Amino acid sequence: MSKKIGRRFEGKVAIVTASTQGIGFAIAERLGLEGASVVISSRKQKNVDEAVEKLKNKGLEAFGVVCHVSNAQHRKDLIQKTVDKYGKIDVVVSNAAANPSVDSILLTQESVLDKLWEINVKATVILLQEAAPHLQKGSSIVIISSIAGYNPQPSMFMYGVTKTALLGLTKALATEMAPDTRINAVAPGFVPTNFAAFITKDEAVRQVAEEKTLLHRLGTPEDMAAAAAFLASDDACYITGETIIVAGGLPSRL
Ligand code: NAP
Repeated sequence: MSKKIGRRFEGKVAIVTASTQGIGFAIAERLGLEGASVVISSRKQKNVDEAVEKLKNKGLEAFGVVCHVSNAQHRKDLIQKTVDKYGKIDVVVSNAAANPSVDSILLTQESVLDKLWEINVKATVILLQEAAPHLQKGSSIVIISSIAGYNPQPSMFMYGVTKTALLGLTKALATEMAPDTRINAVAPGFVPTNFAAFITKDEAVRQVAEEKTLLHRLGTPEDMAAAAAFLASDDACYITGETIIVAGGLPSRL
């Protein structure tokens, strides 16, 4: 099925963190296809270069900056180089996350707790602090949370807690940044990316995950990108502080 895609981001500048593959790349591509100049970033220069090249080969305007989101200088560079190149920021998608351990919460080491907080929550806060002076009136932030933030999943309980924290961060910042900037979140269900390799590696686990959804399939990065693009666009101009669950009907909330 070919989908019609609008041009809702013509003239807009969008930063997407952790965007060299998976959900982040799909979001960057979608925003680019809709007319945005997109700033790609992740930890590795080679990945950044390749992702930028892929987008440019599709005729999209893309620029890359290396940014490990827990590195203060990288975060500053991401914002400053974007402003130097394009003069403004209209959209920030905070997508980076880590899930370094499968331990239960009571057995999770302090260093792992620190890393989860640092990458999954704190880096978003500081990146937005850096971006705030450059955000345009009518700008939009999208944070990538997770179904695990609503519904704790075995082997990723503490990761889920950090994703729950992002729901609160979305609400709090929506109040703080209104009325000029809207901030919303997307909570993906299971999407077969490298991050979720534990689902795709094992056919039985994959089937169980599919069967848990009402739509009998896993999500795609493009499904997540469609929701993120909606929230970032003016189509969502009266929505702020909300999280859209894009999980094929996985149990979440009423
Ligand atoms: P993915 O396909 O594994 O992609 C991860 C991306 O993040 C890569 O571009 C990687 O590039 C970059 N990256 C990793 N650590 C980074 C860091 N510290 N700083 C900057 N970039 C970093 O992952 P994904 O599944 O798309 O996940 C994206 C987001 O969706 C995460 O927030 C995740 O929690 C959320 N999510 C995913 C699922 C799922 O089922 N996949 C479900 C719910 C929520 P480099 O290696 O070059 O850094």
